[in-house]
Amino acid sequence: MPPTDHGSGALGLGLPVPEHIRGRVSEVREFIETRLRPIEDRLAGRLVDERDHLDREGRIVPEVQEAKDEIRRIAGAAGYHALPVPVELGGGGMSPSDLLYVQEEVYRDGLRLTKEVLAWTEGPTPLLYHLTDGELRERYLGRLMRGEVSACFAATEPNAGSDLAAIETTATRDGDGWIIRGHKAFITGAPFAQFAQVVAQTEPGSGKEGLAVFLVDADTPGYRVGRMATTMIEDGNTSELHFDGCRVSDRNRVGEIGQGLALAMLWINWARMRRGGMCSGLAQFCLEASLRYASRRRAFGKALEDLPAVSTMLAQMYVDLYRMRATSIQCLEQIEALGYTGLVVSPAAIRATSVMKLANDEALFRVADTAIQVHGARGLTKSAHIEKIFRVARNLKIPAGTTEIQEWTIAKTLRRAD
Ligand SMILES: Cc1cc2nc3c(=O)[nH]c(=O)nc-3n(C[C@H](O)[C@H](O)[C@H](O)COP(=O)(O)OP(=O)(O)OC[C@H]3O[C@@H](n4cnc5c(N)ncnc54)[C@H](O)[C@@H]3O)c2cc1C
Repeated sequence: MPPTDHGSGALGLGLPVPEHIRGRVSEVREFIETRLRPIEDRLAGRLVDERDHLDREGRIVPEVQEAKDEIRRIAGAAGYHALPVPVELGGGGMSPSDLLYVQEEVYRDGLRLTKEVLAWTEGPTPLLYHLTDGELRERYLGRLMRGEVSACFAATEPNAGSDLAAIETTATRDGDGWIIRGHKAFITGAPFAQFAQVVAQTEPGSGKEGLAVFLVDADTPGYRVGRMATTMIEDGNTSELHFDGCRVSDRNRVGEIGQGLALAMLWINWARMRRGGMCSGLAQFCLEASLRYASRRRAFGKALEDLPAVSTMLAQMYVDLYRMRATSIQCLEQIEALGYTGLVVSPAAIRATSVMKLANDEALFRVADTAIQVHGARGLTKSAHIEKIFRVARNLKIPAGTTEIQEWTIAKTLRRAD
């Protein structure tokens, strides 16, 4: 990882951060530097290039995964994984709008190991708020909130991605339980998760009416982690997942039969909403690195920053950064007012969530691309860390709903009267 100059972040770039959240933002920065950075530093040499921390199958090597798990446990114990979970469920009750600034601070370091201070899709999400059985809520949601375990969400299959209602994984009634059979693909966190939130069809041919969500422990007979998904982001953490006749108790069903799509959308929309601080934080990393480089590097007798074409690139990055933050803040305000954790979400909140994902994904892609351009050949190297952000930015346009699905959702909800 490149050394980061922690500068003054959003505030230094002249971006507004509300007064009431500044203390929290400084607190998370201090927590990262004092508690988590030493763990990352132990592995310093191995984290720059994926070839040094992935095995031949493309999976994160044990030493690095152990460091990630250690960070998750320390951050979980300090309450960071429960930060956005409602207070009545034992969480910190932080609103998504406030979480945006905390996320920004975390991602302003780029894609470092320390970003695990906040839970991403492996942690608690609104889907699990719908567990009503107290014992199960503690076993699954409680342990995720404390960072003791990690989870994955398994919806996508080889024959069904955007069209979730077309999934072929089945859940068949068997006495007081269910037998799950199916094959999931591109599941983030699957290689290391302690349990999966599985979307399955209970009545083949019934479309979304038969969908349900089941929690399946990784040690259930028939649960099998399959081939790694070796994609351009080389995260070492995404794979296939097989359910070869896994038996789960009916208690492990979240919600009712027929609520599977709505529950899945709670997870998916949460991932869309989280794009906000993640993308603007990574864009800040790109802009800060570009500003530093353009002031140091000289060409034609001048610093790059004095060349009009380079100033234009820096200004465009800033405008994109400003635009993505403004969009996120406005969308989150609307989403919070309309509600985002219930099974029925208003079309306006769904639309704002899609607007947020689309705007952030597209803007980060442009910013990362421009940052590489400002850095010249150096921008293409692993050590500058920007090419990794560029690859991740390209990837972001696919998971949690593609760009086209966001556009379709926006258009569909506009046609309906809210
Ligand atoms: C790194 C990574 C991590 C992932 N993590 C997870 C995970 O944790 N859990 C999980 O369940 N899934 C995960 N996925 C899967 C991801 O959610 C799907 O890839 C995504 O939903 C798109 O599905 P698909 O790839 O099957 O594309 P398809 O649905 O086959 O779409 C192919 C193309 O057709 C377009 N298209 C499809 N339908 C429409 C439409 N109605 N209107 C316009 N265009 C359309 C798409 O936009 C796309 O361009 C992950 C994927 C990646 C790459």
